[in-house]
Amino acid sequence: MIDRIGLSRSGLLSTITKRIEPWLKQNVRIAVAQDIWYPTRMANKLRYGDFSSRIDIDAFEDAIDFEPIEEHNGEDRGFCPLPYNAHSNGDTTGKFSINRDKRIYNCWVCGGGSLLDLAMAIKDLDPEPATKWIYQFANHEETDDEFLEHLDELLADPAEQRTPTPYFNNRVLDRYEQAGDHQWIRDRGIDPEISEQFKIRYNPLARRTIKEDTYEGPSLIFPHFWQGRLVGWQQRWLDPEDVRPKWVPKYTMTPDFPKNETLFAYGDAMANVQDEFVGKPNPIVVCESVPSVLFLWSNYQPAVATFGSSVHEAQMKLLRRFPKVILAPDNDDAGEKWTRSLQTYLERYIEVSVLPVLDGKGSDIGDLAEDPSVLKDYLSLAYNSLDTVL
Ligand SMILES: [Zn+2]
Repeated sequence: MIDRIGLSRSGLLSTITKRIEPWLKQNVRIAVAQDIWYPTRMANKLRYGDFSSRIDIDAFEDAIDFEPIEEHNGEDRGFCPLPYNAHSNGDTTGKFSINRDKRIYNCWVCGGGSLLDLAMAIKDLDPEPATKWIYQFANHEETDDEFLEHLDELLADPAEQRTPTPYFNNRVLDRYEQAGDHQWIRDRGIDPEISEQFKIRYNPLARRTIKEDTYEGPSLIFPHFWQGRLVGWQQRWLDPEDVRPKWVPKYTMTPDFPKNETLFAYGDAMANVQDEFVGKPNPIVVCESVPSVLFLWSNYQPAVATFGSSVHEAQMKLLRRFPKVILAPDNDDAGEKWTRSLQTYLERYIEVSVLPVLDGKGSDIGDLAEDPSVLKDYLSLAYNSLDTVL
């Protein structure tokens, strides 16, 4: 298609967009303003990345009581407004700044993050209500160029869409209790030391809202670090399904969680590829879920997770940097598809071994937590075919 008309896909889209622009401006804009029509991607969820570039910095600074003492190189510098109490005698020199273009903050003492992160810390809010709170400062008057750009983005292939990932100050996790050896953690065969190493947290009264409805309940927090930065977390809601409202799924994620282009525990696995005793590369186990990965690490097996059964190209490109991988599929249709895409792709580059699925519909490697002694035998099925000494 591209060859025949000599236009790239995005070029074609913007041509179409420009053609229908007068109609769109008249109709769609009015509809959006009146909440009649939602672009699909925005249908249910307010995404920080969709409006972060339109946040009115001055209004935002006012709302968090931050008064800059100087502006330098696009940064508003002033006294640290963070509630972390990290400055032993208060901030007397102005160690805090907000970068107006990049929409990030930094304090020499407390660290930095996105404006979303800052709102969470100062207003003491969870990510979702913080996103709603900060949305009030988003300027809704887009310029014509921004409007077209936005439309282009909405019409583009989801795989090509990139919204900036917000990042969080590690201290934001201090708001929650250490999960340590919480019963749920123990039941999954996760060692308390691993739980601490991965900074798993527990919130006895986490909150989730939808329109007028609010639900409060206990949840575990699985932080996700990417290139050394905290980029969000997965929340596992612990109330049983008959207690939890339908609109609160078992797992939720922080806004703009980079689920499709990153892997859980990737940095840790990379650091463990070389086995110092054997001298051969360690195989890395790939599975779908975060708790399974933590169970494997608890049993000295480096592992990464794809955050569910859909696996994306960016994730496969990351996986092929490992010399050897072992795929641990879930026993269901989605797991079969997951295995097929990964195997087909990765076999062209690296050594791949696939574990047989465990008995029972829907079971996965994490279910071996009931009897971890079986894990070694199970893994050896894959190790043997990889010509690796266990
Ligand atoms: Zn500070």
